[in-house]
Amino acid sequence: MEQKIFIKTFGCQMNEYDSNRIYDTVKKIGYKKTDKYEDADCYLLNTCHIRDKAKEKVYHEIGRVKKIFKSKSKPLIIVAGCVAQAENEEMLKREPYIDLIVGPQAYHKINNTILNYKNKKIEETEFDAMSKFDYLRKIKNGSKQTSSFLTIQEGCDKFCHFCVVPYTRGPEYSRPFNQILEEAKILIDNGTKEIILLGQNVNAYNYEDLRLSNLILEIEKLQDVKRIRYITSHPNDMTDDLIEVYKESKKLMPLVHLPVQSGSDKVLELMNRKHTIKTYLETFYKLKKINSKIEFSSDFIIAYPGENKKDFEDTLRLIKEIKFINSFSFIFSPRPGTVASKLETLDKKESLIRLETAQKILFKNQIEMNKSLENQIINVLVEKQTDEKIKLFGRSEYMTSVIFNGCDNLIGKIVKVKILKSNQNTLFGTAIDSTHQRVA
Ligand code: SAM
Ligand code: SF4
Repeated sequence: MEQKIFIKTFGCQMNEYDSNRIYDTVKKIGYKKTDKYEDADCYLLNTCHIRDKAKEKVYHEIGRVKKIFKSKSKPLIIVAGCVAQAENEEMLKREPYIDLIVGPQAYHKINNTILNYKNKKIEETEFDAMSKFDYLRKIKNGSKQTSSFLTIQEGCDKFCHFCVVPYTRGPEYSRPFNQILEEAKILIDNGTKEIILLGQNVNAYNYEDLRLSNLILEIEKLQDVKRIRYITSHPNDMTDDLIEVYKESKKLMPLVHLPVQSGSDKVLELMNRKHTIKTYLETFYKLKKINSKIEFSSDFIIAYPGENKKDFEDTLRLIKEIKFINSFSFIFSPRPGTVASKLETLDKKESLIRLETAQKILFKNQIEMNKSLENQIINVLVEKQTDEKIKLFGRSEYMTSVIFNGCDNLIGKIVKVKILKSNQNTLFGTAIDSTHQRVA
């Protein structure tokens, strides 16, 4: 009998990629995806541990499922991902409603884990990314999307003092070059036009001296791929070969997501980031010189322990200089097991004021960038119809959402769209293609 699985994903794009691969795997033992909780025979929560309340979110979510199934037989409950890796036995003790724990390097074994779950509750394992990717190579990537994620690298050896990734995802591991190309070809055969290369430190990719730059240029040769992106990068791995790719590549998009975290060298040192603002700015200006249309986005940690008013002002100055067009900013959140978890945190009220001050400028940059596109014609990769099916949804070269009038035969194509209106996160317009018409 067919079984139904409900998969809920928290966190980054890498978790989204993992959830899709988990689904490709469990399909083999007869599971079909459902988007209704109440229909699920199996409920899988793919968790993220990067910031505060990660654990609480899991228990809250399980509580919700418990309520839904109060008067029915319970589904098989699986907690996967980084919280599962970090908490494992603790979770089973605190919430006996959870049946199985699967760490991020063990999901390729999930079918056996499910079939034998009465004997073994935890499939946590050591960090064995090699065997996971070797297995995944053999299952088809079932993604049928215009834009697809492709994980090329996992883990991290950099040990920034605030970050749990080296503990939850293990040491840096780069997938074999040809294995990635194989997966890229499958994605393209399935209709993918945009490939987003993923890694916790994607630009640290190094497989037998083949770097991210080599990979981009090789994927670019695949005819049907129209756009290439990569996330997330570390400033120290923006090597000259990668910078040079922006000269050569016709498909690499002009948005560079390069997390800086803080504009103060003192705070960067406290964070163990191993780069300075000077080197960050050098990378920025090198890229701007190659193509003035290149824009930057970033991640910021506000109110890191030891950040004083001057340090914070340095961050504001950097934001104003670079004019990041889209960024993530959060107050520092102590993560268990990290060096920074033992440091004294800043006053909550002051932290919040700093976050709001930084976000005000970041959002202003975003609004101004979008406003500058009004009455302009831009290239949009069309991904799908909007939920109400009356408009199309796509993305600009800078990853901004674009909602516009157009015919649904434009899905999967790059089309010219005239932007008529904008807000902080979205551009609105109309396709100027000759086949343009409203979607019925
Ligand atoms: N490898 C990338 C780099 O070096 O910048 C970042 C990857 S990390 C998984 C994603 C983002 O989460 C970071 O850039 C950082 O801004 C944020 N982050 C990580 N730990 C955090 C913490 N303890 N508190 C607040 N934000 C955090
Ligand atoms: Fe975390 Fe990125 Fe630092 Fe690695 S380089 S520890 S992933 S923030």
